[in-house]
Amino acid sequence: MGNDDHGRRKTPCSCCMSVFKWIPVLFITAVIGWSYYAYVVQLCILGMENRVTMAVFLLFYHLTLVLFLWSYWQTIFTSVGRVPDHWRLPESEVERLFRAENQEAQKRILNNFARNLPVTNRTMNGAVRFCEKCKIIKPDRSHHCSVCNCCVLKMDHHCPWVNNCVNFYNYKYFVLFLGYALIYCLYVAFTTLNDFIQFWKNENQLSEQGQLNGTGMGRFHILFLFFIGIMFAISLVSLFGYHIYLVFMNRTTLEAFRAPIFRVGGPDKNGYNLGRYANFCEVFGDNWQYWFLPIFTSFGDGISYPIRHLEEDTETLLGYQSDTRIEMEEDFFPETRFHDTIIP
Ligand SMILES: [Zn+2]
Ligand SMILES: [Zn+2]
Repeated sequence: MGNDDHGRRKTPCSCCMSVFKWIPVLFITAVIGWSYYAYVVQLCILGMENRVTMAVFLLFYHLTLVLFLWSYWQTIFTSVGRVPDHWRLPESEVERLFRAENQEAQKRILNNFARNLPVTNRTMNGAVRFCEKCKIIKPDRSHHCSVCNCCVLKMDHHCPWVNNCVNFYNYKYFVLFLGYALIYCLYVAFTTLNDFIQFWKNENQLSEQGQLNGTGMGRFHILFLFFIGIMFAISLVSLFGYHIYLVFMNRTTLEAFRAPIFRVGGPDKNGYNLGRYANFCEVFGDNWQYWFLPIFTSFGDGISYPIRHLEEDTETLLGYQSDTRIEMEEDFFPETRFHDTIIP
């Protein structure tokens, strides 16, 4: 999966960590499983007398659920991909790099190696970005993820709720996942709202009308469904809204925290901003029929991206001058700070 995972031996400790990382995903899956039982069995099958209403409720429920689960699956199981091998420094070059006497010598080694690679990003000190752990020149917008233990193309953030890095290959799926999860929660909340109100208005009358299962547990499931739906919807609406904003600005979460630094122009949060529609198409493609489906339609190869002032950076594309400096840092900043903190 990662650049550096190949040939790495699994220790019992790393196996335990792998299992531990799946806990948030299992939690979400368990909530979805329970909500299915509460909605389909308790609300619709046991709680509704009108078969037409029941069929309509179930039809829209399953449509939303399928799109939600499909997007979730794609976000979780899409590989973070690999930085191509020709971006990796050969062992001999790495040894030379670490043995270099001074920064100038290191600079020459990296500068020479990166001269034909399409990189425009730099570190804060103006150096070509190099990953000490993966031994690669970092492609533009990529970052090293300490959880995935590899450099990830167009890294957005590492999300424990999907146990995967949100990156170039699954960003569309992630945004759709948030959107469909929000629709699912709102649909469940709104279709149980009437039962919720009725319960508080007249509990006894409700039982006689047969709108709720007469048992205490059935009532509990439906009321809890409403609460959970509202709670998750409130968490998701801000996260989904934020990522829609990022899509239209052509910015990753990491870039929103700290602007990418370009060789020409320096730090620029809008460096990749090509206009709202073009930004949207870069992630969702230009065929509207696929916009709402978790099928890969993003533009590009994840390695290089159109930039706003390309004409000013022509020099970069043609070859590098000798002002590049090496700075062997893990990254601009530790990605561990950018893990999801919002519990949906
Ligand atoms: Zn790396
Ligand atoms: Zn990661």
